[in-house]
Amino acid sequence: MDNKNNVPMISPGLPMCAGCGLELVVRVIFDVLKDTDFIEFGGPGCALLTTKVSVPCYGTLFTNMAPSASGVSRELRRQGKDTVCLCFGGDGMFSDIAFGNLSAAAERGEHLMVVCYDNEAYMNTGIQRSSRTPEGAWTNTTPVGPGSTGKKKQQKPFALLLAEHNVAYVATCSPAYMDDFRKKVEKARDMSREGFTFLHVLAPCPTGWKSKPEIMIQQCRDAVKTNYFPLWESSYGQYRITVNVKQPQPVTEFTRTQKRFAHMTEEQTALLQETIDANYEHLGKLCE
Ligand code: SF4
Repeated sequence: MDNKNNVPMISPGLPMCAGCGLELVVRVIFDVLKDTDFIEFGGPGCALLTTKVSVPCYGTLFTNMAPSASGVSRELRRQGKDTVCLCFGGDGMFSDIAFGNLSAAAERGEHLMVVCYDNEAYMNTGIQRSSRTPEGAWTNTTPVGPGSTGKKKQQKPFALLLAEHNVAYVATCSPAYMDDFRKKVEKARDMSREGFTFLHVLAPCPTGWKSKPEIMIQQCRDAVKTNYFPLWESSYGQYRITVNVKQPQPVTEFTRTQKRFAHMTEEQTALLQETIDANYEHLGKLCE
């Protein structure tokens, strides 16, 4: 994949695990942005792509990506430059550690294009739970054994929380629905010229999900078809579902391929299904 100057944007030999959803997410975003003047802001995590890409990069910590990018974006705009500021990180960064300053950037309407690849745990440091880990799932900090049956809490709805800041654009994306995904990347890029934009992309992690690498796309599709990860977008508080699922499948279609859910009892699975149904009903009301 080359940019407008015919320079490869991603170096050969990426260190990701086989079947990593994150790698495809990066490739799609860079492909859509290849003719755009952009800077990538990268922080700690599996994406450590700042050492593997040949686009302008600015390395940050977990805690200062949105503030740093906001400052750079403001200065570039002051100079009259049309440069997209792309912030790229995982759920541990955006849903947990840096959520406060991400919310602040959203509230100020900073001209940013923020993309979160959600692999639903801290994978890079050894599979610890994040606020995006689903209820019931095993991680190394939500173990399965005497006195513990996986994560007890529900996922934080952080894309909805950001959309509720009444920002320019927020959307959820799936690598299994490529046309929808690419259109949303284009919209986020364009709308970042007028305000804050955020893409929440599901990025399966075969290592942390304990699943087969070759079914990564199937998992992305199952997540949508079960309403576990519905595809929607919002612009200034106007919500819309972008992929309608006529007959949603039970959540077991999504969980059965992942050993992180293998211990779950019928009762736990029923609770997870209840959460998914309630979340979808809430989303449906927002879209009315
Ligand atoms: S640990 Fe997971 S997210 Fe990280 S590179 Fe491996 S598959 Fe990808």
